[in-house]
Amino acid sequence: PEPTAGGVRRRRLGIMGGTFDPIHHGHLVAASEVAAEFALDEVIFVPTGQPWQKSDRQVSPAEDRYLMTVVATASNPRFTVSRVDIDRPGATYTVDTLRDLRRLHPDAELFFITGADAMGQILTWKDVDELWGLAHFVGVTRPGHDLSDMGLGDDVSLMEIPAMAISSTDCRERVRRGRPVWYLVPDGVVQYIAKHHLYVSEEETS
Ligand code: ATP
Ligand code: MG
Repeated sequence: PEPTAGGVRRRRLGIMGGTFDPIHHGHLVAASEVAAEFALDEVIFVPTGQPWQKSDRQVSPAEDRYLMTVVATASNPRFTVSRVDIDRPGATYTVDTLRDLRRLHPDAELFFITGADAMGQILTWKDVDELWGLAHFVGVTRPGHDLSDMGLGDDVSLMEIPAMAISSTDCRERVRRGRPVWYLVPDGVVQYIAKHHLYVSEEETS
């Protein structure tokens, strides 16, 4: 931990962005592992805003994704959920997320947590240099995605975490086919999905 000039340790905040449609144990393990490795005081989960246009599929309503994230993180005293992205109109850009959280937590050190696939996308963005100044980036391993051959700068850390071959895409597909998602997502999320009839048919989510 780096002390400030006054010797007071700065708060260390993890930021875990995602669509969380639904949140699953891969997300939670990633946040927990990075929190332990980097001595984070808090990890803020940030569900993305509602895309106004989607090429491939309809994303569940922001309020459902937000509430599932709250349910999934409620038992962990270091996990919180932010509405900054879902309350901001328009598509979510990581640079806006980081600017908002920097403004809300001016004295904190920010650690942006992403899986290998999302890190790969970030590196292709323009204005990527501005991102490095806003937070430290931590890329975690994810089955099926390779982090090792990316040309990463000094502001990016890579971390191996236990392999969780879980994706929201697979969870949605399982619910649609009547297959279980028990133990892939937290129990409360299984119950939330059933109660609100999420993912049962294409018509109902569109
Ligand atoms: P979808 O299949 O809908 O894309 P997803 O499972 O990839 O969903 P996202 O909400 O897109 O979940 O991911 C949010 C963040 O969590 C991303 O940085 C992603 O790389 C990371 N992540 C998701 N699943 C895992 C996993 N199993 N292990 C490590 N990181 C993960
Ligand atoms: Mg994804």
